[in-house]
Amino acid sequence: MAYPDFTPARDCVSCGLCLPHCPTYRERPFEMASPRGRIQLMKGLASGELTGYEALDEHLSLCLACRACESACPSAVKFGSLIESARAVLNDRLAPSWGRRLGAFFMRHVFPHQRRLAAVAALMRAYQASGLQRLFRETPLRGCFPERIVELESMMPEMSPLGEMPAPRGELEPYGVERGRVGFLTGCVMQLAMASTNAASMDVLRFNGLRVVLPREQRCCGALHLHNGFIPEARALARANIAAFEEAGVDWIVTNQAGCGSTLKEYGKLLDDEPDWAGRAEAFRGRVRDINELLVELGLRPPSGRLALRAVYDDPCHLVHGQKIKAQPRQLLRAIPGLELAEAREADWCCGSAGIYNVTHTEMSLAILQRKMDDLLSTRPDVIVTSNPGCAFQLRYGARRAGHAVQVVHVMDLLARSYRGEGAGLDRSATKGEPS
Ligand code: SF4
Ligand code: SF4
Repeated sequence: MAYPDFTPARDCVSCGLCLPHCPTYRERPFEMASPRGRIQLMKGLASGELTGYEALDEHLSLCLACRACESACPSAVKFGSLIESARAVLNDRLAPSWGRRLGAFFMRHVFPHQRRLAAVAALMRAYQASGLQRLFRETPLRGCFPERIVELESMMPEMSPLGEMPAPRGELEPYGVERGRVGFLTGCVMQLAMASTNAASMDVLRFNGLRVVLPREQRCCGALHLHNGFIPEARALARANIAAFEEAGVDWIVTNQAGCGSTLKEYGKLLDDEPDWAGRAEAFRGRVRDINELLVELGLRPPSGRLALRAVYDDPCHLVHGQKIKAQPRQLLRAIPGLELAEAREADWCCGSAGIYNVTHTEMSLAILQRKMDDLLSTRPDVIVTSNPGCAFQLRYGARRAGHAVQVVHVMDLLARSYRGEGAGLDRSATKGEPS
């Protein structure tokens, strides 16, 4: 059933087994900060019994949409789809405020348009490259600004240099015998702030005999829109991507971003009430693979370059809970000669990034991040590895706050270094900095 869809709430038997797995409940142990409490609120919203929309929004927006409760639930309650439905309904019913208008403006008029997003990124890049950022961070100037501005500035991810960004179109030949043709989703934020990871990912695919196709008309996947209840915008982006990748005639559609992959795999549900698109969306969904998933499915061509590193892997929620992909990234990392893989106790707990949650709920996000960093750093890693840009930015910020020089990279960054014979090549300056 298409959005909004509250039918999964009926599957909840209120057993409470999800409660110990919920990061917000762990921080604030009261029922309304738990999955079970939120389901009760959403039932009330759906039936019309609860009409205090501001209060409902306050409770429901505290949810990270990390879906850890889904993994823990014996009744297989689809919590992710419920919270997206609730946010869609609330977007229609809440009184407009300055903050909501600004959020909606970015959702509708910036994020779906790569050029506008690139313009915002260009301003951020200029701020960082011109020395203004250093001036702000390292002089008493920051004391002249409100605390909230200082906090938001310190979270800003580093933009990729222009020269690092691969042209998002065309085809790249495989190295060696061809095993198939993949359409690669470049992603909006990834392309602007982790462009070298996109280049590494495409290289890894090519080392594995895959022809990489970059459809020119591809768009943002719509993850931010879907998770924040902007359903019409998410649908429009889904239709555009389906058409773009159909045109490319590929065997698989691949992404190196957990959040995007999870959303691409939801396109079937998103468009299942549109007769012209339902079948196409379902066929598209069946071809989507996370890059870790595809490489293991095909059988990795073993990399030979040695990386003498101790790494710890942190599971992105939309990979481990949203797509149930847990073993594959670890399997790929273990295939790198010389790499020692440590395991954190709470690797599958959210890092507090959760799309724009770190901006909208900074206090909760930082409490969750602090716990995450303590856990990861207790394994004494040379490098923290993840598989999603939002998590990478958040963990880099966590390392900076802790004054720790550990580098945070994507699985594909390390695999590419091993294939290319570059050695560990860690540039610790990426996370060096004063604790905020
Ligand atoms: S969501 Fe699942 S685990 Fe949580 S209370 Fe409901 S049935 Fe139990
Ligand atoms: S999605 Fe995450 S934060 Fe939200 S209720 Fe479930 S476990 Fe808690």
